[in-house]
Amino acid sequence: MQYVFPPPSLPAIPVVGADAAFPVRRIWCVGRNYGEHTREMGGDPASDPPIFFAKPADAVTLERTLPFPLHTNDLHHEIELAVAIGGEGVNVPVGQALDLVYGYAVALDMTRRDLQAIAKKKGQPWDLAKGFDQSCPIAPIRSVAEIGHPTEGRIALHVNGEVRQQGDIKDLIWSVPEIIAALSSFVELRPGDLILTGTPSGVGPVVAGDRLMGECEGVGRLEVAYAPRD
Ligand code: MN
Repeated sequence: MQYVFPPPSLPAIPVVGADAAFPVRRIWCVGRNYGEHTREMGGDPASDPPIFFAKPADAVTLERTLPFPLHTNDLHHEIELAVAIGGEGVNVPVGQALDLVYGYAVALDMTRRDLQAIAKKKGQPWDLAKGFDQSCPIAPIRSVAEIGHPTEGRIALHVNGEVRQQGDIKDLIWSVPEIIAALSSFVELRPGDLILTGTPSGVGPVVAGDRLMGECEGVGRLEVAYAPRD
């Protein structure tokens, strides 16, 4: 096939201990998957079950110094456990869902909260609030072969050395197998799909010059900085 211009390179994430990288096909995200976070966003976990939304695959970034995003005055951090899919399936039963998982990573679902608030108010899509350039900083993937399937462990985010978000992945409302089962009832999952599983409470603003450090026990650590204002 001839292309009218060189096709863009495939977004890919390094894998710890491997010479090969994980090519990203799509990024799915779960919203409202920790009760405390649902409440801090003004929802009720009993009546507002988790939801899915997406980011473009090239929102993934391995850069560790990022420009402050366009068109926002309220950029928020959301630290999350990411699931890297290595298998395929549709309507996957919960009991078989972990067979699709290649590995895990710690990632940030960066959010233009001001744009999201407007979208929510007007019943509009979240795409521009969630799916902007470099909106998914991510650490290297740890394979299931290396770390197994983490089901508990502290997940936290620090800004300029101060803890902002703190939770435990055992408190996910939808567990990883439940997320895979639910998502695969809407779309066929294929290798390269990445699923961000939701953020614990404590989300808040990031400004130019801030240094973010996220960690998920047993999975990894992610450090990014936003470039200072000129
Ligand atoms: Mn999120």
